[in-house]
Amino acid sequence: MRYTPSVPVLPIVIGRNTKVLRTKTKDVPKITKEIKELIRNMKQTTVAAKGAGLAAPQVNRSERICIAMISKKLTPLVNPNIIWRSKETDTVEEGCLSLPDLWLQITRSCDIIVKFLSETGKERELKLSDFDARVVQHEVDHLEGVLIVDYHKENLM
Ligand SMILES: [Zn+2]
Repeated sequence: MRYTPSVPVLPIVIGRNTKVLRTKTKDVPKITKEIKELIRNMKQTTVAAKGAGLAAPQVNRSERICIAMISKKLTPLVNPNIIWRSKETDTVEEGCLSLPDLWLQITRSCDIIVKFLSETGKERELKLSDFDARVVQHEVDHLEGVLIVDYHKENLM
């Protein structure tokens, strides 16, 4: 998606102890005009921040919505749930737009299956691997109030 000057860029919430980042999100009951607008603004914000993804709590909202780079395309996921994770894992350095200048080695499943609604409300199920699977796991963590620092509690407390 290209940067479109007419769509607002939202401020990104920062800080490992910020309440909204630590609050579990709620399912979206219906994709209203307002939700579509939020999705549009979140996509724009992801582009502006040069992120690989963004979750609603990062823009101070508690709906279960995230944007994730899937097949190099920013894809909105409404009410996503990871219904399967491979036992096989790998460990890669990750950053987070809400934790600037912090890079941590994070171990995640190599493959996942995620179920979600598209921005038009269609039920979808995708099997993802490697980078795509990692981005979705990071964003779904945000929707549960989990941040990458939680994987390294012993070193960062
Ligand atoms: Zn993040």
